[in-house]
Amino acid sequence: MTETTDTGERDDIGAADLVENDADSGSTDPEQEARRGYALAQVRQYPDTALRMKAREIDQFDDALATLAERMTTIMADARGVGLAAPQVGVLQRLLVYQASSEAEAIALVNPVVVEKSEEVEVGEEGCLSLGRATINVDIERGVSLTVKAKTPSGEPLEVEATGLEARVLQHELDHLDGILIIDHATPEQRRDAMAKLRPRPGSQG
Ligand SMILES: [Zn+2]
Repeated sequence: MTETTDTGERDDIGAADLVENDADSGSTDPEQEARRGYALAQVRQYPDTALRMKAREIDQFDDALATLAERMTTIMADARGVGLAAPQVGVLQRLLVYQASSEAEAIALVNPVVVEKSEEVEVGEEGCLSLGRATINVDIERGVSLTVKAKTPSGEPLEVEATGLEARVLQHELDHLDGILIIDHATPEQRRDAMAKLRPRPGSQG
């Protein structure tokens, strides 16, 4: 049974690293769809073990790191996601990219650490590119705002103060660096629904 109560807060839908995960809300442009399919094919899908491992600190700020950040930014954009963490492309390093709105610039954070988080929380719906094939959405309580210290891929220190959707996306991607997925935050009922979608029984249709 799916909750269909419309709270009027549709803006929250599809936060986290997947903005458009409704098959019928996507673009019908075949080239964009092909691009999205290609991008998703590069994202590790549940239950890939890379998604469950703790990523390591990065100590080499070299060209390879810059290239990886660029590649992840392209995959995120093509997949129409709002964030992507390195473990999602099979790299167990503490690197994430995100772009909380189409007007915002894509940001890459290396070794991000939360230095402050609001006690105030709010619940919003999140999807995940690593659960992308099954269209899983889960209601998750997150801090309304937080401050993250990190470095850029070229090693410059960076501090991000985020609220709302940006804060939610960051918390989702930070979780990925520690092997945590949205289904871990779900209520038992949502988790059961999600698992059923992720592991369709042979012979069951639709
Ligand atoms: Zn995710």
